[in-house]
Amino acid sequence: MTNNDEKIAELERELVRTREEIKHLREQLQEEIEPASATDEDSADAAAAIYERGKVISLIQNREDRMRSLHEAIERVHKGLYGTCKSCGEEIASERLKIMPETSLCVRCANRQEYGPYGAPPRRRERPIVLADDDL
Ligand SMILES: [Zn+2]
Repeated sequence: MTNNDEKIAELERELVRTREEIKHLREQLQEEIEPASATDEDSADAAAAIYERGKVISLIQNREDRMRSLHEAIERVHKGLYGTCKSCGEEIASERLKIMPETSLCVRCANRQEYGPYGAPPRRRERPIVLADDDL
């Protein structure tokens, strides 16, 4: 078994696992929907049920995104690009790949993508509210 085969096997295992998780979450969602329609009069219950459903839906979306990333990662293994950051071309730390085998970005680029080109979100520089009368 070559190194690439091992990586693909690992990524495929993750795919299977993620697909199972989606299946379970969909079942859970189905169960959430059924009792909710019976308790329409109680708006607090209904709101809680909607909240729960929203949570499950976002978990499903999160895993669907992961499925997409895993498919892309497999493609990248085939192309010999796996483990290289697709943004800056640097090698992705093996620790990071162990935790997120589907990632195609190094930590730096992932942060940049999340927060924009300047790294962490800029703190809003609000003028301090001056209560005392000690301005310069
Ligand atoms: Zn990078």
